[in-house]
Amino acid sequence: MTGNVLEQLKSIADPSEVLTNEPMKDHTTFKVGGGADIFVTAKTIEEATDIVRLLLANNVRFTVIGNGSNLLVSDKGYRGCIVCMGADTIRADGTRIKASAGAMLSKVAKTAYDNSLTGLEFASGIPGSVGGAVVMNAGAYGSEMKNVISSVTLFDTATLLPVTLSCDEMDFGYRTSVVKKHPYIVLEAEFELECGDRKLIKEKTDELAAARRSKQPLEYPSAGSTFKRPEGNFAGKLIEEAGLRGYQKGGAAVSDKHCGFVINKGNAAATDVIGLIRDVRQKVFEQSGVMLEPEVVMLGEDMDI
Ligand SMILES: Cc1cc2nc3c(=O)[nH]c(=O)nc-3n(C[C@H](O)[C@H](O)[C@H](O)COP(=O)(O)OP(=O)(O)OC[C@H]3O[C@@H](n4cnc5c(N)ncnc54)[C@H](O)[C@@H]3O)c2cc1C
Repeated sequence: MTGNVLEQLKSIADPSEVLTNEPMKDHTTFKVGGGADIFVTAKTIEEATDIVRLLLANNVRFTVIGNGSNLLVSDKGYRGCIVCMGADTIRADGTRIKASAGAMLSKVAKTAYDNSLTGLEFASGIPGSVGGAVVMNAGAYGSEMKNVISSVTLFDTATLLPVTLSCDEMDFGYRTSVVKKHPYIVLEAEFELECGDRKLIKEKTDELAAARRSKQPLEYPSAGSTFKRPEGNFAGKLIEEAGLRGYQKGGAAVSDKHCGFVINKGNAAATDVIGLIRDVRQKVFEQSGVMLEPEVVMLGEDMDI
């Protein structure tokens, strides 16, 4: 990577936001991962697209991230540039809310509540950004992004142009969207909600938060559910039936509280987590014939499962 690219990045983003050899454990909820060659936070959508254009023009490998709540990064770090979406504007207009990719879902859900809009209660406890939630079609408690998004504005890295896609065109599926198949970057999303009663919205939000606290190991770093739900079954149930409740490898463990969560019990390395994921898949397969697929996105070297 040339110093020239670094200098140009500093002319687009705030120079204090252009970091080198930045530990990814500080930018992921798993709290593991080595250094990214460059880590830059784009504070506006324009900055984000300018940064990406620069990286593409200079053939610099890059990955766009949000809050790092669904990421597992290699101990060897990331060769290239991590672009963190920091643009977090949220605007409510009637029953619609427009939010930039870097806005936290919890804040969008709070804006919905403030404006007496219902539909986003399920998302208030998901610790991701709008961008990450759109990419993953994040969902919980019977709803998902697909049900509340009316359109998404993306940057197409193939044409270098912005494009706005309708909810149908986003091709949302279980923990997937068109962004998994085409090199788009999520810039902004528009949510279409319904008028509701603030008291009921708060009650539902509080109820779901309590359910999370009682069922999920929120006291430990993790990336949420490690595996996708297999057709007609539950990853946590299969892991438990394979005798893996509490199974530990180095600092990584299958949560006692919720077997679907791999947690960092303290100073886990990515090699511990990936090793544990491999063991779990193998043992669950031997026990049940089901091969679990990770929901967590792996970044960097030696992260094949
Ligand atoms: C305690 C806990 C509970 C969780 N509960 C849930 C839950 O109930 N339901 C659920 O679905 N998930 C859950 N998750 C997982 C996670 O929060 C979601 O997947 C979330 O949507 C990820 O958002 P993020 O901003 O953190 O994305 P990141 O982890 O930063 O990125 C995820 C993926 O999206 C890509 N990406 C991110 N932003 C952009 C962008 N702007 N443009 C293009 N690509 C982008 C990244 O490259 C990566 O491939 C949980 C995680 C934790 C830690």
